[in-house]
Amino acid sequence: MSLSAKTVLVTGASRGLGLEFVRQLLALSKPPEVLIAACRDPEKAEDLQSLAKSNSAVRVVKLDVEKDEDIEKAVKVISGYVGEKGLNLLINNAAILFRQIQGVLTDVTRTILQEHFNVNVSSPVILTQKFLPLLRKAASLSGTKELSASKAAVVMISSIISSQGSQDTIPPGHSFMPYKLSKTALNMATILAARELRADGILVTALHPGWVKTDMGTSAAPLTAEESIKDCLQAIAKAGEESNGKLIDFKGNILPY
Ligand code: NDP
Repeated sequence: MSLSAKTVLVTGASRGLGLEFVRQLLALSKPPEVLIAACRDPEKAEDLQSLAKSNSAVRVVKLDVEKDEDIEKAVKVISGYVGEKGLNLLINNAAILFRQIQGVLTDVTRTILQEHFNVNVSSPVILTQKFLPLLRKAASLSGTKELSASKAAVVMISSIISSQGSQDTIPPGHSFMPYKLSKTALNMATILAARELRADGILVTALHPGWVKTDMGTSAAPLTAEESIKDCLQAIAKAGEESNGKLIDFKGNILPY
């Protein structure tokens, strides 16, 4: 099964997995007609700009997910780009993981905790809220009650290290507390939004992309961005009722929360 979403928005598309999502969405057998690649500094996003130059489906939009004024402007601009089609798929990908502290109980600070919560939880929640009218529009056009990412969906990019049920598989002393706490909260946002949006026919799922070689994942990671996103797109394409409100991994397996 292949994804056939006509309109897609990816946040944090300047590099890493966001950029790879854009690349591979364009290579699908049915690529999006409008692919909005949002990033906080379009002028510096050179790889993204060269993709946009060679493919007219790509619209690069300035969006710092922490800034409400950017979100308001982006909603207006993107509404114009997608028109009556609405928005089939929102991929909330942008996130941060600070490495200047180890991120254990003894060295976390309030500021660093707040910053992770702001970017990794508040922003995807507010973005989902603000793009809801466009997601609803896309859902209403399909004429089916089935949930699918080709119809109307929100994918929250999460992580297995947020999973309380998977902590036994993670070595003790493993750090990144601010990041893990934020992604655990994002998982709960996924559960709640999925329940709330079920009646609208909008799928909401959290997705663990694997441990991937990016600036965040570091070169020690086993997967390349290309490998991860190839599988992620298949998992997203297959996601339906059984994945709604769940944390799935890049192979489509449901992980424990
Ligand atoms: P990177 O650090 O490589 O890239 C992060 C992206 O998020 C960049 O495009 C960055 O933009 C963007 N971003 C950060 N803050 C903001 C902001 N305020 N507004 C807009 N964009 C912002 O991370 P990855 O590509 O590895 O991660 C992508 C997603 O996958 C994240 O949600 C991450 O948590 C998740 N993930 C990654 C794993 C991995 O192993 N790599 C494992 C599990 C989950 P800019 O260029 O402007 O800084």
